[in-house]
Amino acid sequence: MSLRTVKSLPEGYAFHGQIDLNKAEQRIVRLIHLVLGLVPTVLGILLAPPFTQTFNVDNLMLLAIKTLTVSIGAILYIIGHEAVHGIVMWQLSHVKPTFGFSIRNGNAFAGSTAYFAKTPYLIVALVPLLFWGVVLGALCVLVPRDWFWIVYLIQILNLSGAAGDLYVSIRILKMPSDVLVQDSGMEMKLYAKS
Ligand SMILES: [Zn+2]
Repeated sequence: MSLRTVKSLPEGYAFHGQIDLNKAEQRIVRLIHLVLGLVPTVLGILLAPPFTQTFNVDNLMLLAIKTLTVSIGAILYIIGHEAVHGIVMWQLSHVKPTFGFSIRNGNAFAGSTAYFAKTPYLIVALVPLLFWGVVLGALCVLVPRDWFWIVYLIQILNLSGAAGDLYVSIRILKMPSDVLVQDSGMEMKLYAKS
């Protein structure tokens, strides 16, 4: 059944293929990334114009602090996003996840040796986007008005950064119901009943 997540490959299953994004698919991911970055940016500018202050020496210090906050926030967000992938993987499979950073692709990743059925894998892929979406959305409302954009920029990073997760989810959604997914973080292998 599709809720199964296992530590080793069940009998009767065989390697079915690998999700490698070809050039056209990479272009689709980049397009999703762009749209999920641009749409909330434009909405934010319309709803809460970011440049209502004139800049002078007095608020230059504040601007520097805000820039530093966004930079640190972005790094913490990337760690937090992968941490949620890892925690969900661990909770569903009871297999310790691995974390890393790919210099070649320039991205952080969480991976596991477990074999995830379709529904659990979709949960693994989408929970970081949803969890941080809610947390950052709440923070956007709670922080003082002039700190809104600091949090909102991280929210934009959350949305646009999930382009790959969303694309992979759509691909997995179209797979046969008995598919098992093994995601090392660097590559995704698929297994099906042979
Ligand atoms: Zn992700």
